[in-house]
Amino acid sequence: MSWEENIRRVEPYVAGEQPGQPGVIKLNTNECPYPPSPAVANAVKQLEISDLRLYPDMNAKKLVDALADYYHVKAEQVFVGVGSDDVLALSFMTFFNGNQPILFPDITYSFYDVWADVFRIPFRQCPLDENFRIKKEDFFLSNGGIIIPNPNAPTGVLEQTALFEDIIKANPDSVVIIDEAYIDFGGESMVPFVDQYDNLMVVQTFSKSRAMAGMRIGFAIANEKMIRCLKDVKFSFNSYTMNMPSILAGTAAVLDDAYFKQTIGKVIKTREWTKEQLKRLGFALTDSKSNFLFVTHKRVPAKDIFLALKENNIYVRYWNKPRIDNYLRITIGTDEQMQVLVDFLENYLA
Ligand code: PMP
Repeated sequence: MSWEENIRRVEPYVAGEQPGQPGVIKLNTNECPYPPSPAVANAVKQLEISDLRLYPDMNAKKLVDALADYYHVKAEQVFVGVGSDDVLALSFMTFFNGNQPILFPDITYSFYDVWADVFRIPFRQCPLDENFRIKKEDFFLSNGGIIIPNPNAPTGVLEQTALFEDIIKANPDSVVIIDEAYIDFGGESMVPFVDQYDNLMVVQTFSKSRAMAGMRIGFAIANEKMIRCLKDVKFSFNSYTMNMPSILAGTAAVLDDAYFKQTIGKVIKTREWTKEQLKRLGFALTDSKSNFLFVTHKRVPAKDIFLALKENNIYVRYWNKPRIDNYLRITIGTDEQMQVLVDFLENYLA
């Protein structure tokens, strides 16, 4: 028998490009254009290099306590991981363990079907309506779990908490995960509902609104029992996933709320300006409440615009996938970067 017969074969998730050359305007992976809080640099400087000989605190207590305080939950209700991808992958493994298919939207974060695949979880994709809105009735079917991002990605469309409450109430026997990677850019979080619904888990990240994609910090908030189950699975792989610098840096970021709010405010202001400019240039777009726009041009195919932008060192995201193959996802950069984008498009589309 060949060893190749015993391989777990998967088609991996494809992340946005990380171009190496200088001068690129990078609007393709929803990073924050601003640096993290200055308090983060100070916190990392406090780290004694000699401390690195020790294992980090496996419970990442400093960071967990800061998050618990910030979100008004108990420390036992917080789970931290290496980016929300890590938290989500562990959650799939922990909570989506039945025989029924799990449910998520047809247009959504393209890691969900990859995790389902790698963990052998059956899944069903529920089609969004023609305005990319969630049809809640689709999530009232019998299922093995539910995951929905809010705002959704890559559409940026925000749904109201009442819609999720209806889905959560209709599914008392399933875990419902709300992926709030982009919630800080203008949405209402489901975190305040975790004590009310014992099947709700909310996942967030430091990669976008806290400007720390490079640190890899994500977290989940739920009831104590769910967090315990998640920790059991995590500690069955690796007890020390959060390294010392990320625990310190993450804690400092959470404590500097003024800076956090200021950064978000800047991104939102630039987003709203960019929306108006792109509309003026003949784009149709969703009313994104995230740190990116989802746009289609009335005349010029998205793929052509994508390639033209790339040739001119402006990177955005394009997927050659059903329903979204005439759309671009454009991360909100600084005012200056968005002005360069708008100027280029103005010329290109003229
Ligand atoms: N969820 C959604 C909807 C995302 O777009 C992303 C970013 N790729 C993530 C989760 C993961 O982000 P991270 O692992 O950087 O926290």
